[in-house]
Amino acid sequence: MEQDLDWGRSPTPPGWYTPALQDPPKDPKPFKLPPRTKPTKEELLEQHWDLLQILKAMDPIYTRICQKIPAYNRNLGYTRLQEAVRKTLRAKDLLEEVFTGHRNYGDAYLEWQLYLGSCIHGVKIYSASHLDQCLQCGIEASRINQLYQEDWKPSSKVNT
Ligand SMILES: [Zn+2]
Repeated sequence: MEQDLDWGRSPTPPGWYTPALQDPPKDPKPFKLPPRTKPTKEELLEQHWDLLQILKAMDPIYTRICQKIPAYNRNLGYTRLQEAVRKTLRAKDLLEEVFTGHRNYGDAYLEWQLYLGSCIHGVKIYSASHLDQCLQCGIEASRINQLYQEDWKPSSKVNT
């Protein structure tokens, strides 16, 4: 350092009198954490994958109760992926009610059609009162309920 230090004054501590402090920005931007309400696409994909693994461990009859559960697909856009996760989560919740004995197969089947807004046979279902609009759904619901009465077990069965 070539500067002469004036020991008569208290020396300025190094780093204290920085240009940033001397000349603060006129309109400092407040530091904000990114909002955490919206998950990233990777997080959604991970969540979807995890949900599908939970489903796979269930009694295979779940595929007859909840059909058209969205498959894992990395190519989905953000909105469609969000929708896929929401649907899969609904299916998981519904099926958990089934396999813990809180709902029978047919009831859950009809509830799922209602959730989708149309049944697998293409009949629009806007409310619970529309559930009996599709004859085929009525037949399928009572068919799988037959299975429910025959071989319902509280835990997931092992597929032999
Ligand atoms: Zn139907």
